[in-house]
Amino acid sequence: MTENLPPSSTIVIIGSGLAGYTLVREIRKLNKEVPLTLITREPGYFYSKPMLSTALANKKDAAQLITTSTEGMATQLAIAVMSETEVHAIDGSTQIVQTSKGAIPYGKLVLALGSDQIRIPLEGNAVHEVLTVNDLEDYAKFRAAIAGKKRVAILGAGLIGCEFANDLVLGGYEVEVIDLAPQVLGRLLPEAAALALQSKLSEAGVRWHFSTTVQTINRNGDVLEISLANGDSITCDVTLSAVGLKPRLDLAKAAGVRTGIGIQVNRELETNIKNIYSLGDCAEVEGLVLPYVMPIMQAARALAPTLIGQPTALSYPAMPVMVKTPALPTVVSPPAKGAEGQWKTTAIDGGIEARFESTNGKLLGFALMGSATAQRASLTKELPPILP
Ligand SMILES: Cc1cc2nc3c(=O)[nH]c(=O)nc-3n(C[C@H](O)[C@H](O)[C@H](O)COP(=O)(O)OP(=O)(O)OC[C@H]3O[C@@H](n4cnc5c(N)ncnc54)[C@H](O)[C@@H]3O)c2cc1C
Repeated sequence: MTENLPPSSTIVIIGSGLAGYTLVREIRKLNKEVPLTLITREPGYFYSKPMLSTALANKKDAAQLITTSTEGMATQLAIAVMSETEVHAIDGSTQIVQTSKGAIPYGKLVLALGSDQIRIPLEGNAVHEVLTVNDLEDYAKFRAAIAGKKRVAILGAGLIGCEFANDLVLGGYEVEVIDLAPQVLGRLLPEAAALALQSKLSEAGVRWHFSTTVQTINRNGDVLEISLANGDSITCDVTLSAVGLKPRLDLAKAAGVRTGIGIQVNRELETNIKNIYSLGDCAEVEGLVLPYVMPIMQAARALAPTLIGQPTALSYPAMPVMVKTPALPTVVSPPAKGAEGQWKTTAIDGGIEARFESTNGKLLGFALMGSATAQRASLTKELPPILP
């Protein structure tokens, strides 16, 4: 009976991704005793998600990406890990979460729930065969699907789509990429920089279908046939969808936690419900959802002291993101949404430096490619913080 459970001092974290485990590490740096329970519907091992889109070139299969077992994490960090455990509901008034393995009381609860891959509505008899990769189990299925096959079609020419495209061509696959936008990394790169990346990936073997979308996907014997809105068609063995992410909100919404694009939190990462916090891909701080590693590190460093009684406000410095495309290594720090200014793109020996500058010449964002990536540290220092 959940009503009879004693009040708890345990910090309960839902999610074993980078957000959940980084937070645990940060808490343990400050406090070795506070009881910590991590609940996850995954197996609970530790792996680095960004490695999924470079694993072929690095000659690693899914199992080789696991750096620490679940038991290893539990012992190293002195925590209880409830793996393969789904959280169904949260009661913020009694401070109890309902899981597939019973009721768990909490003193403080952290939602590190991550995000889901967006699935665009498609037609045809093979829609269910379109794969997405958002965790290690998805990746194992993807690797099994492409084993012994040659041709992969990718929906989406964003960061994840481009990284997988580069990795797959390095692994010897023929790759076709389809995107509604007229260029790669539409939201992150100015046109000239996008063209440079496209051209290097084309040289590596990637074929592009821009400004169009998939109309139907059908299985015909051994192959998948994709028809595009522009009248073209593609024949492939496997289709991977990488069209974007949406924060996981259902659990929070059902518990009365305020949500917008993500789970809305204040600068101390607390939601509107006392003792419920959030960080990582699912969290929205002052209108920002930043689904990258650096924001998770910043958030975990702020939330750890807050949870053990030293309230600490989150701030975000400028946080450039590496696009892991060996065909043309790229670092981007896009300007804030709505920032006024313009891109100035300069070709330098073996690279491209694109600066987004305000009308008075202040650097507000950049994209660096090839040899220009060496400027990353110095240009980052010039950028304004994302959240001061
Ligand atoms: C292929 C790929 C490459 C990337 N490369 C980069 C990169 O180079 N640089 C970069 O900065 N970022 C990169 N990213 C983004 C980065 O990996 C993510 O921002 C980060 O891993 C998100 O971590 P998270 O813990 O917030 O979410 P997740 O890793 O999604 O973890 C969410 C956790 O919550 C659990 N969960 C959710 N709901 C429930 C429930 N109801 N009950 C129990 N458990 C639940 C899940 O099982 C999971 O353990 C990449 C992402 C992908 C997919």
